Amino acid sequence: MKDRQLGRVRFINGENKGRYPFCHSVYIAGEKERIIIDPASSLDKLKLLQQNEGVDTVWLSHSHEDHFAFLYLFENCPVRVPMRDYPPLSDLNIFLDWYGVEEGSNRESWREMMLNQFRYAPINNANFFRDGEIVDCGSVTVEVIATPGHTPGHLSFFFPEEKILFLGDYDLTSFGPWYGDVYSDIDETIKSVRRLQKIPADIWITSHEKGFFEENPGEFWHNYENIIYERDNKVMEYLKQPRTLEEILAAWLIYGRAREPLFFYEFGERSLVTKHLQRLEKQNRIILDKNKYVMIK
Ligand SMILES: [Zn+2]
Repeated sequence: MKDRQLGRVRFINGENKGRYPFCHSVYIAGEKERIIIDPASSLDKLKLLQQNEGVDTVWLSHSHEDHFAFLYLFENCPVRVPMRDYPPLSDLNIFLDWYGVEEGSNRESWREMMLNQFRYAPINNANFFRDGEIVDCGSVTVEVIATPGHTPGHLSFFFPEEKILFLGDYDLTSFGPWYGDVYSDIDETIKSVRRLQKIPADIWITSHEKGFFEENPGEFWHNYENIIYERDNKVMEYLKQPRTLEEILAAWLIYGRAREPLFFYEFGERSLVTKHLQRLEKQNRIILDKNKYVMIK
């Protein structure tokens, strides 16, 4: 997939298909304001963009590192972020807390990764979006759509003139949605995906992998939501006999197998499995008996 220009909006294809640690970016060449959304696509492309066409403002769709890795290129630009996602962007300790990375559980590895690989730097003077705000950039407008779940402040953007919908990290990938952070929420994720699905767009942009859909993603929507229920089912299937959390994690029900870097994927597996266990407990499908999860018949 190449970069694509649609009116004043450009899809900037990220390195390695926008897979983590990269994402795809969106550039808005408004007459009043030139904006880059999520500057973590490609160092070379973003440098050229900065030099040739220029950027006035940076927008972040949410607080994750794979969306701000090259923010440092734009250090003189004002940054707009979702208010609810601002705390982790303002302080690295809060950032790690929101991921649920505790002291003594590789917090130092996380800290180093954020500082060295993603150049985490606290954003001091952020501006905020209002939910439902319509931003006039000059010959291009953008509707700000609150889509919590992935993170509490996650935003999607709709460009009514071009009929482009930027979904952000509701990325319609075959891996499925992420909702493993402390303040992520599975039910909110489902609501946000359904809300996005109803918006009458002609082009859909996501932050990772395929990234650019010229036809309605159709079954991708359904498959993406379905992964949540498949994960529920995998956990239930594994609990045909009572299991401890550590036993469940060792089965790699979400990621399929151990991957490198191990601390990173162990964290991902634990975060997502924990959310499913909480959800299944809430639905009265399982209980924690002593230290084992047990299916309720
Ligand atoms: Zn994210």
